[in-house]
Amino acid sequence: MEKYLRSQEKKNKMKRIDVWPSMSVTDLSRVLKAPLNDLFDLILCLPEAAKLEDERQPIRNRDLFLAIAQKLSLKIHFVADPAARTVKLLQENTEEEENLDVVVTPPNPANLRPRPPVVAIMGHVDHGKTTLLDYLRHSRIVDKEFGGITQHIGAFSVQLEEEKGRVTFIDTPGHAAFKAMRSRGAQCTDIVVLVVDAAEGVKEQTRESLRMIREAKTPMIVAINKIDRPGADIDKTKKDLQASGVELEDFGGQVQCVAISALTGTNVNTLVEALSALAEVLQVSADYEGPVEGIVIESTVHHGLGKMATVLVQRGRLKVGDILVCGHCYAKVRQVHDDHGQSVTEAKPSEAVTVAGWRKLPSAGDQIYQVPNERRAKQVVAWREKKATKQRNVEASRVIEHQRKVHKEDYHDYRMKKLEAGVLKPRFGWHDFHVRHRETNEYTGPPKLSLVIKADVDGSLEAILNCLDTYHEEDVVFDLVDFGVGTVTEHDLTLAQDFNAIIYAFNLSVSTQTTRGASDLSVPLKQFNVIYHMVEDLKQEINHRLPVKSVQHVIGRAEVLREFVVNEKRRKVPVAGCKVTQGRLERQRLVQVLRKNEVLYDGELESLKHLKNEVGVIELGRECGLTLEDPEVRFQEGDVIVSYENKLEKQQTEWSPGF
Ligand code: GDP
Repeated sequence: MEKYLRSQEKKNKMKRIDVWPSMSVTDLSRVLKAPLNDLFDLILCLPEAAKLEDERQPIRNRDLFLAIAQKLSLKIHFVADPAARTVKLLQENTEEEENLDVVVTPPNPANLRPRPPVVAIMGHVDHGKTTLLDYLRHSRIVDKEFGGITQHIGAFSVQLEEEKGRVTFIDTPGHAAFKAMRSRGAQCTDIVVLVVDAAEGVKEQTRESLRMIREAKTPMIVAINKIDRPGADIDKTKKDLQASGVELEDFGGQVQCVAISALTGTNVNTLVEALSALAEVLQVSADYEGPVEGIVIESTVHHGLGKMATVLVQRGRLKVGDILVCGHCYAKVRQVHDDHGQSVTEAKPSEAVTVAGWRKLPSAGDQIYQVPNERRAKQVVAWREKKATKQRNVEASRVIEHQRKVHKEDYHDYRMKKLEAGVLKPRFGWHDFHVRHRETNEYTGPPKLSLVIKADVDGSLEAILNCLDTYHEEDVVFDLVDFGVGTVTEHDLTLAQDFNAIIYAFNLSVSTQTTRGASDLSVPLKQFNVIYHMVEDLKQEINHRLPVKSVQHVIGRAEVLREFVVNEKRRKVPVAGCKVTQGRLERQRLVQVLRKNEVLYDGELESLKHLKNEVGVIELGRECGLTLEDPEVRFQEGDVIVSYENKLEKQQTEWSPGF
């Protein structure tokens, strides 16, 4: 260690490096380009390092940094964590750029006027949400104007008697729509009607709806439904609701409750009036004159009209010709239709209309803003897209950083396990490695590749040993005779000679004397500076030692057309009448008879004939008759005869240490 220290001192004299609180010894070794293990051992000797247990642990301790600097004659400069800096820089980049998004000016309170409430209907399945919406849509209460012909556009308005106002209903029952809107941070519902079946009371989805309504802090009115049914029990349902935390007016709370029949329409009028009254209390209002703002309720591609979005207007008056931006899309409004399918000149706050003229289809829940012209719309969309890309990059860099960390930890665990299992010798403990002497017993196992490995530093040696550890093949085995840090010595040469080993010298200069010594003893001595090249050489050495393998080479195939039996020297011999379908058949080659891929016979031919003549070869497309050495084997139509030869081939190792 003293030697290391002296060399570092010399090297570092006045060297200036950046350090940061989360810097680990591993980081430091990278910055200093110093061997990790030597550095870690040195740091562990410092009293300030009492709490340091692991080379990956953040150092944090300023005194320890100073002590390290003093020990290694470094000048240190404290900086922020470079990883954090990268993320921050990316974020700053996003912020630094001029914000070209839509600028929304809040409405002047003096311009606010009442608007119809927007209502969503929720509740347990089968408690009557759709029936209630159907009734409302078709009756329209006093909708004499259009005679109830409605189109589904995702929302519709109901006009009350005697100009008592209007109510807009979101035309999708269930909490899925409500949830979808809220998950995008959109809030377009002023009031929720919670439908509860008077016979069934509070059920699972009623409670789920209640939870969501509370979370969204949306006011509600309860509609106790199906009161026309014989089993209806309004009082019990109210008690049920009270028990579920709904503070009903009847029990001194705030929540109104209307008993209705969605099927017959009983009290539905009262329910709508209650909604309108509550909206007044809530002072539901909007700016009718400002630039248009709204929310997309639904979007679809309409045959003939193109891309359409149902927009619930929340501010201003939406008109044909307006330029709207929504998410990453924009529209020059071409047509506006209401929920009767009628073309309208404008749509006011709380009205839902279909808007045609979109360049791209916007998504439900996205907010809409009016901009002065198309150029500005394009600018906003381009800016938003750029921002989204940057955001994605920031997220990606976070993911990469995280993966890097996980990978590092995995590697550390792997290394620790190997150390514990003794596969890698503990650092600086290599001299304890058992020195072997020539073995006298005759070796009978698979071919061996005996190795003596010498490397410049322990880091290199460890990397090589890790590589060797990934070798698990059995046809040739590694025999690690010795390994260590430092130049190749005379002892290494004799050891390699005794064990018939190859010496691999990694990142080391070898003297001519040693090279000559190795040559005199016929010891192969190989030098490498790149692990990859060394592994390639080891693979070659393995390949040399792998036994040759017999490999079947198909010469041709024939199909059996039929079997006929001939009498030959008083014995019956089955003959296969065949046609060659691939390559050719050769008389001297081995054959296999296959039936449905099962091998019936594997051996020599007795004869191969064309017509009556014995021949050496039958070419592709020709017919022949053949017999086998074993006359017991019988043929069937469709059997396959494979003519083949066995060739001895050299094998290649499949070992790959992962690079
Ligand atoms: P949703 O699943 O909550 O949308 O429930 P639906 O509206 O589909 O209604 C479920 C069933 O209850 C249907 O068969 C309706 O006809 C019936 N229903 C709904 N409201 C009433 C009502 O007020 N009275 C009666 N008797 N049946 C009703």
